[in-house]
Amino acid sequence: MTEIERHQYDVVIVGAGGAGLRAAIGAHDKGARTAVVCKSLLGKAHTVMAEGGIAAAMGNVWPEDNWQVHFRDTMRGGKMLNNWRMAQLHAQEAPERVWELESWGALFDRTPDGKISQRDFGGHRYARLAHVGDRTGLEMIRTLQQRVVALGIDVFMECTITRLLLDGDRIAGAFGYWRESGRFIVFEAPAVVLATGGIGKSFKVTSNSWEYTGDGHAMAMAAGAPLINMEFVQFHPTGMLWPPSVRGILVTESVRGDGGVLRNAAGRRFMFDYISDYFKAETADTEEEADRWYDDHINNRRPPELLPRDEVARAINAEVKAGRGSPHGGVYLDIASRRSPEFIKKRLPSMYHQFKELADVDITKEPMEIAPTCHYVMGGVEVDADSAMSKVPGLFAAGEVAGGMHGANRLGGNSLSDLLVFGKRAGEYAAEYARGQASRPRIDEADIRDAEQEALAPFMRDGGENPYTLQRELQETMHSLVGIIRVADEMKQALEKIAEYRERLARVSVEGNRQYNPGWHLALDLRNMLMVSESIARAALERKESRGGHTRDDYPASDPEWGKRNVCCRWAGDHVEVYQQPLPEMPDELKKLFEENH
Ligand code: FAD
Repeated sequence: MTEIERHQYDVVIVGAGGAGLRAAIGAHDKGARTAVVCKSLLGKAHTVMAEGGIAAAMGNVWPEDNWQVHFRDTMRGGKMLNNWRMAQLHAQEAPERVWELESWGALFDRTPDGKISQRDFGGHRYARLAHVGDRTGLEMIRTLQQRVVALGIDVFMECTITRLLLDGDRIAGAFGYWRESGRFIVFEAPAVVLATGGIGKSFKVTSNSWEYTGDGHAMAMAAGAPLINMEFVQFHPTGMLWPPSVRGILVTESVRGDGGVLRNAAGRRFMFDYISDYFKAETADTEEEADRWYDDHINNRRPPELLPRDEVARAINAEVKAGRGSPHGGVYLDIASRRSPEFIKKRLPSMYHQFKELADVDITKEPMEIAPTCHYVMGGVEVDADSAMSKVPGLFAAGEVAGGMHGANRLGGNSLSDLLVFGKRAGEYAAEYARGQASRPRIDEADIRDAEQEALAPFMRDGGENPYTLQRELQETMHSLVGIIRVADEMKQALEKIAEYRERLARVSVEGNRQYNPGWHLALDLRNMLMVSESIARAALERKESRGGHTRDDYPASDPEWGKRNVCCRWAGDHVEVYQQPLPEMPDELKKLFEENH
């Protein structure tokens, strides 16, 4: 057997998006020998694709804004299922994290009086998103990456982790392979921070790119860390729709934040027909009031186009179902008739180019044709709110791979701030945990051999299942049976299909050798996609109500009893088990914020 490359660190961060990079800086600052490992090139993560901005109650545009209002908006947007402590820490610490980014060189757009500019987004009471045009993620990644490189933190890029290694029940390291050579690599470390992002690639229509196969979610579960909130998948209301090659690519919410409205095939601004009782008091019910709101947030209520994403996605779905959709099965997003070409090009430069180049549509002259797209998973690894540690000692999770922060639905802009707040906490606590260990954990050589054999298995079979066929079928199943609108019978069918796919996965074979072999990489990712898909389907079947990103046709109302419970998923060796647990109780002083109508 060939010798495997080995490295020793105190903290290994898996993932180099915003959460991973901020965790790396945090761990390094606490004196830990730190490494960052990422599946694709450094800088190529979802964070770089983030367009709209970072939500933080800095009060630069509306001095009335503060952490309490942000906390309240986040909890209401999450339909009160958020972990209250995470939502509190997030709202309190986000402004500091944005100013810190600025001190590290990030250049945000400014207000006329020179402060960091903040823009409107759905569900946020005040203009709150610090931004750089519609390329905020790029500036955030550039800044964090520069700092990581300047601090001399080791980066292993194009290196995929396939398994977490344990010593008893605590973390001992991670096993993976180099994508270029196919050679294996072992990291020995008492603390591992998962920052692997989302799961969108299990769905047919998604804004997510190829890396997002839920690796961190699945590896955590396999190591014994439960997941929570997995039934809550966010379908962003506005994805590109036409031509087919661009279907699912994100159209930022900033288009609506900056004045864009949704219209059906008849040109009607239909969102006024879909204001739920939950948001009635704070939503404009006439076009006049909605339009006045852009200049005067105090005396007018917000336009219904800026309701939280779950509400808008369901409304679009209903319009299309009622036969009022666009030719390709979506609706129109119109900013051309509402803002000048100069304004649109200045505020939304990426959207202008995206539509011009990919769809031959000039958004300063014509409306965009859009439909919902699978975008974000609220569910993830269950973590301690303060330290970001999972139930497995030494295993931490931050960013999209962690659960709890966003409850049943995430507000736009709250992910970038989540990455910074909890990335920092995870890195710092991981370093502290590593330092506190009396002895370094020991990796069992048999576990390494087992991980190696598992990874090589697809080469050992001939003429078996094709991984691409399996992936396509899984994506179709999740799209049509566990998508925006769910019913029990369809989810049961999905679970039967997932069980069948798992049997077929054991027969998957790949050709060629280990160097840059995407078919092999996908064969390994499929295990994770199936674990995550099963978690989503089982949790969604368990939750017999509709709430946030989880809509059941057979249980259309929200049920106050379900509002007190989380559904959790754990791995039982060959299938996912679900169980329920009560939500942590919010302290009275925070409860008051909801009574006082802040
Ligand atoms: P990511 O940035 O997704 O990074 C994950 C990292 O993990 C990558 O480096 C990847 O290579 C690595 N990785 C994954 N699996 C493995 C493995 N097995 N081994 C090694 N490495 C692995 N949110 C906002 O708040 N505001 C916005 O304006 C906004 N716009 C968005 C626009 C788009 C198009 C998309 C897709 C998302 C947007 N979001 C936005 C959401 C937000 O960008 C993501 O939720 C967030 O960036 C996730 O960050 P992260 O650090 O958790 O993971």
